Amino acid sequence: MEKNKCTGCGVCENVCPKGNISMESDSEGFLYPEIDVINCISCEMCVTHCPVINPLESTEKLKELKAYAAWSRNKEIRYNSTSGGIFSELAHMIILQGGYVAGAIYDENLLVHHHISNCKDDIIKLRQSKYVQSKTGKIYARIKKILDDGKLAMFVGSPCQVSGLNRFLDKKYKNLLTCDFICRGANSPKAYLKYLLSLENKFGSKVERVWFKNKKNGWNKFCTKIEFENGQEYYADRYTDPYMKGYLKYNLFIRPSCSQCQFKGLPRYSDITLADYWGVNLRDENVDIEQGISLIIINTKNGKANYDLLIKRIFRKESDLTDALKNNQCANVSIKHGIYRDKFFEEIDETDFMELIKNISKEREK
Ligand SMILES: Cc1cc2nc3c(=O)[nH]c(=O)nc-3n(C[C@H](O)[C@H](O)[C@H](O)COP(=O)(O)OP(=O)(O)OC[C@H]3O[C@@H](n4cnc5c(N)ncnc54)[C@H](O)[C@@H]3O)c2cc1C
Repeated sequence: MEKNKCTGCGVCENVCPKGNISMESDSEGFLYPEIDVINCISCEMCVTHCPVINPLESTEKLKELKAYAAWSRNKEIRYNSTSGGIFSELAHMIILQGGYVAGAIYDENLLVHHHISNCKDDIIKLRQSKYVQSKTGKIYARIKKILDDGKLAMFVGSPCQVSGLNRFLDKKYKNLLTCDFICRGANSPKAYLKYLLSLENKFGSKVERVWFKNKKNGWNKFCTKIEFENGQEYYADRYTDPYMKGYLKYNLFIRPSCSQCQFKGLPRYSDITLADYWGVNLRDENVDIEQGISLIIINTKNGKANYDLLIKRIFRKESDLTDALKNNQCANVSIKHGIYRDKFFEEIDETDFMELIKNISKEREK
């Protein structure tokens, strides 16, 4: 397979019976499989289980996909979530039934990786969008073990990661709930770390906490809040924060495969799709939209059964699916790389992140 098609989902690493595959960073900071060719037994499990080489057949889907505007009744959960807090409500419901929830968390170095837990308190770490590609590690194998033990599990990840999990499992489990999200693209961990380093230099302190899409100034401002060990705080919106500008405006550092994503469109490979409901019309409801509204797409009967269990904990209003997606181009279309992407990666090792984004802004405005 050509390198620029690999999504870095990590299924090959999980499926190799000899442990001969490891995920290693390339010069842009994205993970790609490296095969120990000397010890490879040519079983081709990595090829047969790759969701890009062997895309899944469409699984059981609802005849008509259902879309909803939805948000948690719990104000604190909603405020602290990226959209309407439906992930946290689903996670809570799964854990209350004795199940496990897998999603992306920040580690002690503020890098993002997948983590699984059956502890209610961990929902706080699992929630919120982290705008950098997560390292999946051995998450698929861990989920399989939990499912084989007859326990309930929920997996949340990008559409390519959910397809990867389904490919890895290769059979339908009734005790699994999968959620993907509408995905703009996975950012380079190297670009993200360079951004944090640049802020650390500016503020003279280590970063303690990263919070993308903080809602203090409203949901659609995409404000980034960074807390430093010395107590200082950084706060900037999508128009001024250099990382968000690089992601949303200049398209500088998404993974190569994201510019030709195979996992867009409908129907999707998850039970439930989570997203932001941009342009939602809730004029008749008495609701503060700036606290975040989720767009929920119910893809399967299993998704519907689990979503219906939230009935008392959330507000929801059915929507027309086409209408719901009209302001969310990333549902169907891949983001193309910006013209300064090569310059960004050529210069990022030598140039301060903020300086580089400033230079790119100036060149664009010439
Ligand atoms: C990289 C990225 C791009 C996105 N692009 C869009 C978009 O273009 N349009 C849109 O409508 N929505 C997009 N979303 C989804 C949106 O930001 C919300 O995450 C979603 O609406 C769920 O909101 P929530 O309030 O229910 O849950 P939240 O509390 O936001 O929970 C988010 C869930 O996603 C998981 N997660 C967070 N970061 C990652 C990551 N890097 N990799 C894998 N899993 C992760 C968390 O573990 C959690 O389960 C994107 C999310 C991410 C992570």
